[in-house]
Amino acid sequence: MSQALLPRWVVPVVPEGRVLEDHAVVVESGRIAAVIPADDLDAGFPGAERIELPERVLIPGLINMHTHSAMALLRGLADDLPLMRWLHENIWPAEKIIMGPDYVRAGTRLAMAEMLRAGTTCFNDNYFFPDITAEAAVSAGMRSVIGMPVIGFPTPWAETEDEYFRRGLEVHRRFADEPMVGISFVPHAPYSVGDQAFRRIARLAEELDIVVHLHLLEAPGEIESSREAHGLHPLDRLETLGLLGPRLLAVHMTQIGQADIPRLARAGVHVVHCPDSNMKLASGICPVADLDAGGVNVCIGTDGAASNNDLSLLAEMRQTALLAKVSSGNPEAIPAARALSMATINGARALGMEDEIGSIEVGKQADLAAIRLDRIETQPVYDVISQIVYAVPDSQVSDVWVAGRRILDDRELTTLDEAEVLQSCREWRERISLAID
Ligand SMILES: [Zn+2]
Repeated sequence: MSQALLPRWVVPVVPEGRVLEDHAVVVESGRIAAVIPADDLDAGFPGAERIELPERVLIPGLINMHTHSAMALLRGLADDLPLMRWLHENIWPAEKIIMGPDYVRAGTRLAMAEMLRAGTTCFNDNYFFPDITAEAAVSAGMRSVIGMPVIGFPTPWAETEDEYFRRGLEVHRRFADEPMVGISFVPHAPYSVGDQAFRRIARLAEELDIVVHLHLLEAPGEIESSREAHGLHPLDRLETLGLLGPRLLAVHMTQIGQADIPRLARAGVHVVHCPDSNMKLASGICPVADLDAGGVNVCIGTDGAASNNDLSLLAEMRQTALLAKVSSGNPEAIPAARALSMATINGARALGMEDEIGSIEVGKQADLAAIRLDRIETQPVYDVISQIVYAVPDSQVSDVWVAGRRILDDRELTTLDEAEVLQSCREWRERISLAID
């Protein structure tokens, strides 16, 4: 059974900058079977079910490369603080009280509802109780990469270093055959994970052929404290520990210098840029334009909703382009089409999934988002990609497919119950307020 999506425009992302008008994207068994002029559809796929998407642009589903989904329930709990005070005085104490499967399940469902309504089809998650996050993602039909957490202190997920590994590897085994879930390692950060754990992660990541998703050089002070604790710059330390390579997804990277860029490019490290979170916590600015020009693969994440405070990759793309321009003093830095690549195909590359997702190409998974451009906020249309990056509000994302399954249908979630998600938010707001009182 084939379905033909018939939008006004298709932005395939590969090749970068291309816009196709009046084309059909044919989907068969969850994959893209053809991208052809709409006029050729009847001849090539005479039986295809036609799904008309007038005045919409079809793009590859956005890939959120760094988030802590369940923290959506902590949105707005603590704002306007520096990173360490925010973590130590607000977020970690709150998490200590509420952390558990129920909180993670409810928070992940809220996060997925929000992400799907903003065109995101895949998220790369870093949080405790990853088995619960993975279950929630599978049941919602959303694609995910879920991390096995490792952090140097006890949490409700695990008490000891050994227990972090044991429980993480159980999750890896459990979801090994689940096509919609990938598994990664998520050591929290160089300042909260020891050498022995990092060595073990490097060895296991190689053995299991998985990526390592790490907060790195997020805020000022990390270089100095690493020199004090380990006698090494964090990048030197990670190199010594066998982690500075193409499996590493380095999140934030606001504290890098020009001299670090060729080294990151040579090592094949991927950088995950989270501009809203970096700006909100005043962590610093990742030199995205220089990294991109230097040959480093840069992709984009929202971070958790507690430090953003939304999970909109459309917004994050816009911030990426704008922040790159103002910080480099160059309005030509990170043009719209490059920002869109960072939110799609570059994320797929970082995950090692560039043959499966990240662009609208024949043979790939039909992970797609349709966006209306016929609203006040996006008229008139001279340049479709410019509208997507600089003007579209999340509310104009009309439909989302993951592996060919329509899980947002004219803004209605088809696998998540919106009323139930909202009710659960209200209940968790009460529980969390009482817990931290
Ligand atoms: Zn984070």
